[in-house]
Amino acid sequence: MDVERIAAHHRVGTLRVVAREDSKVDPFVKYVLACEDDARIETVRIPLEKPGRFVVCVSSQVGCAMGCTFCATGRLGLQRNLEAWEIAEQVRVVRRELPPGTRVHGVVFQGMGEPLANVERVIQAIRVLHDPCGAAIEQRAITVSTVGVPGGIRKLAAAGIRVRLGVSIAAARPDVRRRLVPVEQQNPLAEVLEAAAEFVKLHGDAPMLAVTTLGGVNTSDEDADALARLALDFRAKTGVTPRLSLVPYNPMGGDDPFRRPDDEEAERFRARLSAIGVPVVRRYSGGGDVGAACGQLVARPSAELTGAS
Ligand code: SF4
Repeated sequence: MDVERIAAHHRVGTLRVVAREDSKVDPFVKYVLACEDDARIETVRIPLEKPGRFVVCVSSQVGCAMGCTFCATGRLGLQRNLEAWEIAEQVRVVRRELPPGTRVHGVVFQGMGEPLANVERVIQAIRVLHDPCGAAIEQRAITVSTVGVPGGIRKLAAAGIRVRLGVSIAAARPDVRRRLVPVEQQNPLAEVLEAAAEFVKLHGDAPMLAVTTLGGVNTSDEDADALARLALDFRAKTGVTPRLSLVPYNPMGGDDPFRRPDDEEAERFRARLSAIGVPVVRRYSGGGDVGAACGQLVARPSAELTGAS
């Protein structure tokens, strides 16, 4: 098919940049983007340690149906799934504004939405992002994070693409997790990790297990021990040691039921996990001053969030 015939049968859609906000405290950049139906989403440009390299945090849905209680996106509810091109286009928007000599190294599906609730389009977008004629991003530099959709994990595994898997654990103790992640009622964490183990057996890469640490809620010694047990069980089952990633809670604004753990609390939690022999890092989640940090994405410029003009 020549270019004219392709152009006659296909339309190239665009996402409009409503706002670009550069954090004043770190090199994170948040984009508020408008889809063609005026639905709003957010995309975040994350700097890597290696200078000139970036990761793009993309959205996979407009809003989210999962309702995690520590996430501002979860308060929006779900408006719709993003199309595959709308997912891939977010990377193109970020790429065209990069300074010369820099590049997008990877992509994380940790923006608005549960990617595995939109798994077919996410797989299609990954194929485009990986294609040499697309964004030519290594599959292993793409991470798909889920809060718990076992069927989606299996579809991703069966798609024959070698991306990395992330699971948002929130809390390893079921009673605590049920309060934080409503989908735990339908898809208990044990089932999610069963599917993750199948994924890892096929693909071999260590999954990332992420915990948003909430002061006084999921950082007790009991929580640390349950999380360590879970990681060690996973290793016993698969022969692969998961990487634990602790992300401090980022305030959602408004009527906020949570607080960020102070440094002592966060460090005690990390140290207890580490002492049990589980590799664990405390991760920095940047862009908090412009509402770009994990759990803060609501597709609105920060001035609207703070009431500033
Ligand atoms: S944490 Fe992820 S899955 Fe949960 S409500 Fe937020 S966007 Fe949705």
